[in-house]
Amino acid sequence: MRICVYPGSFDPITNGHLDIINRTVRICDKLIIAVLSNVNKDCTFSIDERVKQIRHVLKDRPEIEIDSFSGLLTEYMKKKGANIIIRGLRAVSDFEYELQMALLNKNMNPDIETLFMMTNIKYSFLSSSAIKEIARHGGDVSDLVPDYISKQLSKKFKNSVGV
Ligand code: ADP
Repeated sequence: MRICVYPGSFDPITNGHLDIINRTVRICDKLIIAVLSNVNKDCTFSIDERVKQIRHVLKDRPEIEIDSFSGLLTEYMKKKGANIIIRGLRAVSDFEYELQMALLNKNMNPDIETLFMMTNIKYSFLSSSAIKEIARHGGDVSDLVPDYISKQLSKKFKNSVGV
C-alpha cells in the first residue's frame, strides 16, 4: 500500500495545493492531508479553521483523509502506517528547505520516502502568504483559491482593507 501524507500549513489551502492533491491521488493508494498545528508559526487561520476549510473544499472527495498533527512528521507517519511524504516544488528557492527536511526525515526513518511534485506552471507563483497579502488589501483572489476560501479570506480581513 502506498499511503501518502501531504503535510503543510495550508494557511489557507490554494489552487496550487489542490493541483498537487489531485495529481497525487492518481499515484497513491491513500492520501492523507496532514495540517500542521505549529505553535512556532504565526498562522492567520487556526488549526480548526484550516482543517474545516479543507474538509469543506474536498467534501466530495471522501477517499481523501484530512487530519491535523503536531510534533514530528515521522512519528505521525508511523502512527498512520504511511510511508511517503508528498511535497510541492515551485521555484529553486523551495529546494534548499525541502532538501533539508527530506534528509532530516530520512535520517529519522530510512523507510520513509519524500516524493516531490513539480508545481503546475499555472500556479507556480502561488503561495498562501501571497494570497493573504492580496486579500488583506482587498484584491481579487477568486481564480487562485476555491470560492469558499475566497469568502473566508474576505471575512477574516474585512476590517483591514487598506491597512
Ligand atoms: P509549509 O509551511 O509546510 O511550507 P505550505 O502550506 O506553505 O506549508 O505548503 C505545503 C506544501 O505545498 C509545500 O511543499 C509547498 O512547497 C507546496 N506548495 C505550496 N504552494 C504550491 C504551489 N502553488 N504549487 C506547488 N506546490 C505548492
